Amino acid sequence: MFKRILIANRGEIACRVIRACHELGIESIAVYSQADADSRHVHMATESVCIGAGTNTESYLNLANVLSACEITGAEAVHPGFGYFSERPSFAEALASMGIKFIGPSVSAIEAMGDKAKAKEAAIIANCPVVPGSTGPVPSEVEAMEWAEKIGYPVLLKAVAGGGGRGIRRVDSKEELTHAFKTAQAEAQASFGNGDMLVEKCVLLPRHVEIQILGDEHGNVVHIGERECSVQNPRHQKIVEEAPCVVLTNELRDQMGAAAVRVAKQVGYSNAGTVEFLLDARGEFFFLEMNTRIQVEHPVTEQISGLDLVQWQIRIANGEKLPFDQSGVKLHGHSIEARITAQDPDKDFAPCTGKITRWEPPGFRGVRLDTHVYAGFTVSPYYDPMIAKLIVTAETRELAVRRLQVALDEFNVEGIQTNISFLRRLVRDQRYVSGEVSTAFVGEFLQEAATHA
Ligand code: ADP
Ligand code: ADP
Ligand code: MG
Repeated sequence: MFKRILIANRGEIACRVIRACHELGIESIAVYSQADADSRHVHMATESVCIGAGTNTESYLNLANVLSACEITGAEAVHPGFGYFSERPSFAEALASMGIKFIGPSVSAIEAMGDKAKAKEAAIIANCPVVPGSTGPVPSEVEAMEWAEKIGYPVLLKAVAGGGGRGIRRVDSKEELTHAFKTAQAEAQASFGNGDMLVEKCVLLPRHVEIQILGDEHGNVVHIGERECSVQNPRHQKIVEEAPCVVLTNELRDQMGAAAVRVAKQVGYSNAGTVEFLLDARGEFFFLEMNTRIQVEHPVTEQISGLDLVQWQIRIANGEKLPFDQSGVKLHGHSIEARITAQDPDKDFAPCTGKITRWEPPGFRGVRLDTHVYAGFTVSPYYDPMIAKLIVTAETRELAVRRLQVALDEFNVEGIQTNISFLRRLVRDQRYVSGEVSTAFVGEFLQEAATHA
């Protein structure tokens, strides 16, 4: 087993990985920016290295600094967390050339899934249903129009290099299309350095349901069930996730799971990964993309499977074989995650910064909190506003929803604004309580709240 692992990330995921290392008897090396000097991951790690000033480009996204930290600390392997360098082939390549193991899939698998057009092609070859529309990038608005006429409005224009909900634009009519295509292309070029666009049918009122997979470096791939992630803000960012998904029958789970495994095998995938799907009201599912890394919402899968996904990432990177096959994956109970963010619900979810003066999270049976903050911690303006993940687990969904409501009620934070008050209202909405949600739910909820205000 590795003796020393460097974690090329910050925040709660860095803490999560450090714990997994220590439980496996591995030393951890944290990297941190000047703004994060007091972050919990810095104190938790066996050793910590400052890699630059506060902004991401000066620190966590500064390739030379991160690689230097690997070299001077003698790291044998690097866990990239999510975001940052986690899906960047050049990072994995640079580590390989230094003789350091990247804890993730092969460079070719990252490349195959890094571009939404290439990923869609791989899914088609793997006989996995994809959203109707162009498979490759459309060169101009003329071809975009042809596709839109063929599949019918509304359509989505999607940047092949997009991610995190960015680079997706809905077009409802022919009149809008020409202008929308040009702007979307220009925006994608500016944000991602790649203006290539796909045209896709806009699936109406879908659910976002994704399948967690684990593959070892010996060709074995299993899926660990699904996560329901339809509770997203209007910018397609996930807020509340759960496992299992209430509408998935065992048959549909088997079908989606098998499709995800085929896609993974198609690209020679190893390590943890997620195949995202849209599920429509008729129970038809369509491949969206594959995320070649650990995901923010992985804890809900851990809670119902009993597997430690981060430890498995490390063990797989160390060459271990999965000791179970699909029939050995057992799911039990229900788990829900709510993302706690430093955002002001009364100011259109504007990010909030400042010192947390009071931090009283809930802690009782069936409650897990993944976080890097504490009372006295200062939330800086440089990073993602997520400050914690509250995860509850219970025997049934009904009990898990109640446990989440109770846990949110107990959660007391002062000094900065958070989205907790919003989450309390959201998880009491009848649609949420009954599980009758689509990706449009939060948008509707916010609109209703605005009209009643
Ligand atoms: P996931 O795909 O894991 O569910 P999201 O879709 O919410 O996560 O995140 C979108 C993108 O932003 C991903 O690339 C993810 O890695 C990144 N990201 C999300 N939250 C954070 C965070 N707190 N810090 C850094 N990157 C993040
Ligand atoms: P990202 O890389 O930004 O995560 P995804 O392709 O995973 O992009 O899509 C993000 C979200 O956008 C989905 O969870 C879903 O809510 C919405 N979405 C994407 N494609 C479609 C589609 N064809 N029809 C309807 N909604 C879609
Ligand atoms: Mg996605």
